[in-house]
Amino acid sequence: MKTVGVIGAGQMGAGIAQVSAQAGYRVLLSDVDLARAEAGKAGIAKQLNRAVEKEKISAADRDAALANIEPVNDVSAFAPCELVIEAATEREAIKRTIFETVGKVLSSTAILASNTSSIPITRLAQASPDPARFMGVHFFNPVPVMGLIELIRGLATSDATVKAVEAYGQSLGKRIVHANDAPGFIVNRVLLPMLNEACFALGEGVATIPDIDAAVQLGLNHPMGPLTLADFIGLDTCLEICRVLFEGTGDPKFRPAPLLIKYVEAGWYGRKTGRGFYDYSGAEPVPTR
Ligand code: NAD
Repeated sequence: MKTVGVIGAGQMGAGIAQVSAQAGYRVLLSDVDLARAEAGKAGIAKQLNRAVEKEKISAADRDAALANIEPVNDVSAFAPCELVIEAATEREAIKRTIFETVGKVLSSTAILASNTSSIPITRLAQASPDPARFMGVHFFNPVPVMGLIELIRGLATSDATVKAVEAYGQSLGKRIVHANDAPGFIVNRVLLPMLNEACFALGEGVATIPDIDAAVQLGLNHPMGPLTLADFIGLDTCLEICRVLFEGTGDPKFRPAPLLIKYVEAGWYGRKTGRGFYDYSGAEPVPTR
């Protein structure tokens, strides 16, 4: 595999393009227009410059990686790609349209993969030219830092497709885990109930925000507490994943905590809006309850 296409040059798409280019792949990067794709590449250049300043990579490595990334107008340029990874906005209609469009230009052996965090892979595969050559490839944020990729096979995904994408993931230096197509895959299936339970505990007055966070961080040796992590992920995203788990399994154990719903309804999404379980307007985060 030599040429990888990345659709969506946002947070995740830019990260995927960066690590692929650093591993030596030629990367075609698209977004809704050329300007957004170019902005994605400019963001990658910033990240790589920072890595050079910190002496993590050499200036020559940075230049080689950047030379591997070509922002393009749209997916009509993707014909040479052996693998295309879609990392566009998490909306099923957007993704389906993308697969239908890119499907028309890809070769009969190219693999199409989605970085979706929550949409069923088997369902998305129906919009692709060949469900046997379609699968989920779930990277974590920030992509250059996080060492894991979850590979998700849909009902029709072929063994050859899984093998090829696994080899690609390993060539990026990531640890690969395999999941079947079930709501939340592995990481979100395990993580979200914990974050949601922290919201229940807070709502029921079990403890304060700092004490829930300190208890989990120090008592379980986690890098940060669950409410801090939920704010980091985005409370809207957490709620969305809880709903996917709840609706996808029909199991009441996944019902979203009323307090989580309330925070989202208030527009308090966490770090990205400046307020969630903590207020981020000052030098230090301050608990909001
Ligand atoms: P983002 O908003 O940063 O980027 C999405 C990009 O997609 C934007 O640049 C947008 O312009 C572009 N886009 C929208 N419609 C498009 C179209 N029709 N064609 C091409 N590009 C289009 O979002 P993100 O955080 O990078 O998330 C992207 C995907 O990755 C989502 O499916 C999300 O669920 C998944 N994901 C996100 C995370 C995370 O922590 N942010 C982690 C794992 C997976």
